[in-house]
Amino acid sequence: MPAIWDLPDFDSHEAVHVFDDRATGLKAVIAVHSNHLGPAAGGTRFWHYADSQAAITDALRLSRGMSYKNAMAGLSAGGGKAVILANPQRAKPQELLEAFARAVDSLGGKYITAQDVGISEADMVAVSKVTPHVAGLPGQGGDPGPYTARGVFLGVKAAVKHALGTDDLHGVHVAIQGVGSVGGGLARYLAAEGAKLTLADVDAQRAADLARELGGQSVAADAIMTLEADVFSPCALGAVLTEASVAALKVRAVAGGANNQLATGSEGRMLADRGILYAPDYVINAGGIINVLRQIENADDAEINRRVDAIAGRLAAIWNESDSTGNTPAEVADNMAQKLIGR
Ligand code: NAD
Repeated sequence: MPAIWDLPDFDSHEAVHVFDDRATGLKAVIAVHSNHLGPAAGGTRFWHYADSQAAITDALRLSRGMSYKNAMAGLSAGGGKAVILANPQRAKPQELLEAFARAVDSLGGKYITAQDVGISEADMVAVSKVTPHVAGLPGQGGDPGPYTARGVFLGVKAAVKHALGTDDLHGVHVAIQGVGSVGGGLARYLAAEGAKLTLADVDAQRAADLARELGGQSVAADAIMTLEADVFSPCALGAVLTEASVAALKVRAVAGGANNQLATGSEGRMLADRGILYAPDYVINAGGIINVLRQIENADDAEINRRVDAIAGRLAAIWNESDSTGNTPAEVADNMAQKLIGR
């Protein structure tokens, strides 16, 4: 096993903390990628990993992602992530959460935690009884979905302007994959401005019902990525942009809310080579994090909305730089984020 500095995802993390609490059985990793812009903010994942190496790799990858996302969202927050290594039964007794909270507290505010996969709102409330370094508690911002949906909508509009040269969404065809909190909210915004919608979801009834309500069409989940449309909007799973799926796209732009859309990273170049505009995922889907972190910024609703609205301008700046340099939008976004965090 390579030393932690030599792992491909290490990327000069400022600190990687490993916790092992014998009394409760807690095994956790808290990775702090950067404190350059402020306390490292990012959620806690509770997951059963194949081995501890996989847990460390996941923490490093997610932590760096939070650095980039928070920086590009204009937040005074760095990036970090915690993972708790669940046992195969995924038991999560109160003492384990309390031990984790003490671990967070021991970092003295250099890391601020929040919910992620496997951690409920109630779990975070329990953690907050031990440490103040918790964001996104009930009553402190609520469901991030609507803010993410609004940011993605503004990003789709910006993509239409850049790729199709129009501000008018009437008749612009948007194919949405996944109509949950983000995709469903996006569909409503788009319908209100006259866009033509095709919706798909593994819950086919959900897509059909929403399409009927909004006056659009629905298709089977496996048909949405090969549809001829103006914009493809991935709002379900990550890693949907693969070599094969990019080759089959028949759209002018890809702009959606899902995390980690590029399966390996190289698909960013394939999209550019095919003349398909790409909205880097962590830039367009930052509305939720902007809202969850309102307590760090002490920002009110108006300020949160102003920050979410800025997503469109940030995407336009990325695409303009991409046009003038030949770097892909994903590369431009990564470079911008690295500059912001002093790398
Ligand atoms: P959600 O669970 O509310 O909705 C996801 C929808 O996608 C569900 O209706 C589900 O049935 C559908 N789906 C799952 N697999 C599918 C597939 N293969 N094809 C078509 N549909 C499929 O989740 P959400 O909160 O809307 O999040 C959607 C995506 O956006 C996720 O990738 C999430 O990580 C990302 N994201 C969400 C937020 C937020 O604030 N909610 C913020 C940033 C990023």
